[in-house]
Amino acid sequence: MREPTTNVKIQLKRTPNVRSDGTDSGDYGLLRLLREGIFGHGGWRPAWHKAQPRAHYRVLVIGGGGQGLATAHALATLHGITDVAVLEKGPIGLGNVGRNTTIIRSNYFHPDNVRFYEHSLQLWEQLERTLNFNVMVSQRGTLNLFHTEAQRDLFTRRANGMRLQDVDAVPLDRKEVKSLVPLVDLDHGRFPVLGGFLQPRGGTVRHDAVAWGYARAASRAGVDIVEHCEVRRIVTAGGRVTGVETTQGFIGADIVCLAVAGHSSTLASTVGLQLPIESHVLQAFVTEAIKPVLDVVLTYGAGHFYISQSDKGGLVFGGHIDGYNTYGQRGTLPMAEEVAAAGLTLLPGLGRVRVLRQWGGVMDMSMDGSPLISRTPIEGLYLNGGWCYGGFKAIPAGGVATAHLIATGEPHAIARHMDLDRFADGRLIDERGAGPYPWAH
Ligand SMILES: Cc1cc2nc3c(=O)[nH]c(=O)nc-3n(C[C@H](O)[C@H](O)[C@H](O)COP(=O)(O)OP(=O)(O)OC[C@H]3O[C@@H](n4cnc5c(N)ncnc54)[C@H](O)[C@@H]3O)c2cc1C
Repeated sequence: MREPTTNVKIQLKRTPNVRSDGTDSGDYGLLRLLREGIFGHGGWRPAWHKAQPRAHYRVLVIGGGGQGLATAHALATLHGITDVAVLEKGPIGLGNVGRNTTIIRSNYFHPDNVRFYEHSLQLWEQLERTLNFNVMVSQRGTLNLFHTEAQRDLFTRRANGMRLQDVDAVPLDRKEVKSLVPLVDLDHGRFPVLGGFLQPRGGTVRHDAVAWGYARAASRAGVDIVEHCEVRRIVTAGGRVTGVETTQGFIGADIVCLAVAGHSSTLASTVGLQLPIESHVLQAFVTEAIKPVLDVVLTYGAGHFYISQSDKGGLVFGGHIDGYNTYGQRGTLPMAEEVAAAGLTLLPGLGRVRVLRQWGGVMDMSMDGSPLISRTPIEGLYLNGGWCYGGFKAIPAGGVATAHLIATGEPHAIARHMDLDRFADGRLIDERGAGPYPWAH
């Protein structure tokens, strides 16, 4: 009898997975996983090149968060500017890009903001292909609940505004809300749920993967990613930028772009600039892992509370900023209590699970609650900041728009309204209709 034959040969021997710059080949396929498992995981290499800074760059991006990395990536891939370094004071991913609650959406009210965030959402929809990296984009829908007739009007207006720009927004009545989220208590005490509006294309993205994916793609496109390099001071001569003073010495540059989230005003003050930004702490919480109970991102309308369930099973939730100026990344108990109270009112079942972790991030709250992608009065100094608590969803568009401004000298069409001059001219983008109260955004 003949031996059975097979055409499929599984090769388990070690093959080189290192690129010439010492980074990993990026093969995360099944065979590689099997091979690494068998050989003790000794073959993995860094995903991006750990660069030493050179003496001079055409563009220095300060801050290796999502916005800074996306800006550097867009400079290299869309404009061919590769003489770029990203200077990050710690390791990549430990800023707000890795601290947020991972929500992406474009359900804004102000027409210019709808356009900007919708552009970003469309870039998220292609991001895995753009970066060749699995960032786990999950368009599970974002559902905003309303609890009064006045709020119904407000939300309907917002949803109609979105639909006028071809952005998806679906009104839901009480029954539809209950069938989508059975956990919700529709008739809780003071604020019964009257309905909601759903953006089906909203959702979540694995935030660490976004930082890693952008760092890897930018590095491969020729950008230097310099970690553990804190910028102490921006250096100018004759009214224009000449470089930065860092913990690794002076680095010269023609152009410097600030993308440091909660530390924008601190660094800008080193060249005498006072920005319309305050730094506040925002907390997030995650529970122990449980079976799937929530498959949309849910936002409570009678308080500041939002929640989703991560792929690992934890319920991830948050609320308002703590409401005082700080650079601390922890937050206080009164806000934790307020968030828990809002959560329990809406989802009484939440009382049965234990909170596993809590953390905070420093937010750069602008005075009108909208971001800044702008030149500054210092020649060669650009600003990407003022993201308040919405800058994660804005990463793809923020990077593209900031790179466009740096490379062409002209604002990108989707971010024309985000200039610094609006505060001098009185053209504020009052997304929340709350006026200049940073604590209220
Ligand atoms: C708890 C929480 C929940 C949030 N939830 C959401 C959400 O669900 N959806 C959403 O859209 N947004 C959310 N956000 C907001 C969002 O995370 C931020 O707006 C966004 O990440 C800011 O841009 P970034 O990624 O560039 O910031 P960061 O990742 O903070 O990047 C800035 C980087 O600059 C570095 N840096 C600072 N100073 C210096 C210096 N002097 N020299 C060198 N480097 C420096 C920092 O170390 C940091 O890595 C949330 C934020 C928090 C804290």
